[in-house]
Amino acid sequence: MSTNKPLPTPTEISAPFWNGLKEGRLTIPQCTSCGHWIFFPRRHCDKCWSQDLTWKTVKGTGTLYTYTLTRIPTLPDFADEMPQKMAVVELDEGVRINTTLVGVDEAEIQVGMRVKPVFDTVKSDGTALLRFTAADKDMAERIDSTPAALAAAAEAAAAAPVADKRQVRFDDEAAMKSLVSETYSAWSNQIVVDQALIDEFAKLSGDDYWIHTDPERARKQSPFGGTIAHGALVQVLQSRLRIPLDYEVVGFNNMVNYGSDRLRFPAPVPAGSRIHARTRVKAVEKLPKGMQLTMEIVTHVVGSERPSVINDLVILYM
Ligand SMILES: [Zn+2]
Repeated sequence: MSTNKPLPTPTEISAPFWNGLKEGRLTIPQCTSCGHWIFFPRRHCDKCWSQDLTWKTVKGTGTLYTYTLTRIPTLPDFADEMPQKMAVVELDEGVRINTTLVGVDEAEIQVGMRVKPVFDTVKSDGTALLRFTAADKDMAERIDSTPAALAAAAEAAAAAPVADKRQVRFDDEAAMKSLVSETYSAWSNQIVVDQALIDEFAKLSGDDYWIHTDPERARKQSPFGGTIAHGALVQVLQSRLRIPLDYEVVGFNNMVNYGSDRLRFPAPVPAGSRIHARTRVKAVEKLPKGMQLTMEIVTHVVGSERPSVINDLVILYM
């Protein structure tokens, strides 16, 4: 699984810090001459100018120095993390670190509160970022936020299929019409739309426009700040999203997919996003050939209020 979220590029000077995070350790340099702790990593002590520094593993506890909540993604790729809880933490050693808070509700965040580190694996190669959570939270010290792990967790947490589905005969017009609703179903499982999947679809469809396939160029030139999935790809992925329904249409001999009355792509799906879908019955109409049901299926990036695909799917039961 890939992500297009920007990730740190370790330098010769900062590599020990990033390598430590991969192993679930917070390491920062300390000046051997005067004992001063140093962050961000650099070649010299910013207090006495000594170049005699030693990397040390610290406990990572500290206090919240300041924070802000971002209501609009800082880049489209972060839509699934809204609101991001961006923070500056002051370690007990005195240095300040830019970070993100996890595992805390907005209302619980207070400047000055005690915090502890959380090592968050964000890429399948083990790349980890340093997050913090409230010191009194019972949270694992190491978490896995790779898109694959998040989707798997959502899968596990997804509501069990509805056990007692209401059975509705396809030729019972009144019963079929009672399915029409303004209210959407519960959400489906989630799947990850990563760059590898987008590239495969580009190959298959022949639509290899750079806005889908060239992350570097898209980062600089695309109005979306990165590559996005083809609308048609997100639409066909509806087949992999299992939407829990509380009814089942029965008694028919044949079911025909007539296509769509309406197909719209109102919002982009940035590469690396997770998507899920929900549905409602929009219309039921008795035709000479059978009963026609129009289902509005909406697919959203997880966390986004605007749908990425609106599909009014028309099904004929005969
Ligand atoms: Zn020093």
